[in-house]
Order: sequence, then C-alpha cells, then structure tokens
Amino acid sequence: MKKVKEESIFETQAGVFKLLAHPARLKILALLREGEECVCHMEAMLGYRQAYLSQQLALLRESGVLEMRREGWNVYYRVARPEVYAIIDAAHSVGGSLEDLRRWEEKKKTCECPKCCRARGETPSGEETPLTLAE
Ligand SMILES: [Zn+2]
Repeated sequence: MKKVKEESIFETQAGVFKLLAHPARLKILALLREGEECVCHMEAMLGYRQAYLSQQLALLRESGVLEMRREGWNVYYRVARPEVYAIIDAAHSVGGSLEDLRRWEEKKKTCECPKCCRARGETPSGEETPLTLAE
C-alpha cells in the first residue's frame, strides 16, 4: 500500500470541505439523495441555467462524488460516494430552513423530466417514438 504523508490527508479533507462548501453543490447532492436524476430534472428543480448546472456537476464528477450515464437524449447523475451525506447531515444539525425541500415537492408535480412524467403516469415528451441511440 502506498505511503500517505499526513499533510496529504489534511489536504484531501480540506478538498472535500471545499467541494461541499457551496450551496449549489449541496442542493444538487440533496436532490440526488433519493437516487439518480436526469439533468432536466435538476434544471427544473433548481432553476439554474444549464451552463451553470453543468459546471457544478462537472466539479462533483471530477472529484468522484458523482457518476454520470447517458440514456438516449438524457444525461443522468447519481452519487458514487454516499459518505458525503454524513458530512452534510452533521452540517444540517446546526439548523436552517427546509423551505427548498418543500418547494421541490411542489415542483415535482409539474416537472417534465422522464422520471417525474412516469411517476405521474404520463408519457415523457420525445418518447412517443422509441429511441435507440448509441451510448
Ligand atoms: Zn423531474
């Protein structure tokens, strides 16, 4: 096993906090807590421009916290390192409003992403004709 210097452990820990020390990235991780979501769902829930969302998703993916997969036109993200939620929950115990989480429940009712449409028993737009695109 590779010898790790003590400093590098602290640098790694600081890197984890730096990655998590951003409301947008914490919101993304909160959305992905229940499982994978497509980018269109995250856009609808968070209201971020796609470029901004992609930038935050890229940071989380490069660090190995998120994993990505494509299915047809949709890009899905899921959490690859659920350990981050232990850190987030510790920070949450400090307090704060749950208003965002309540708002998301409302937004889910009108979200047009494939998962939300199927959850409402609707056919997601663009899926009237079966898509068989290469990965
Ligand atoms: Zn959705």
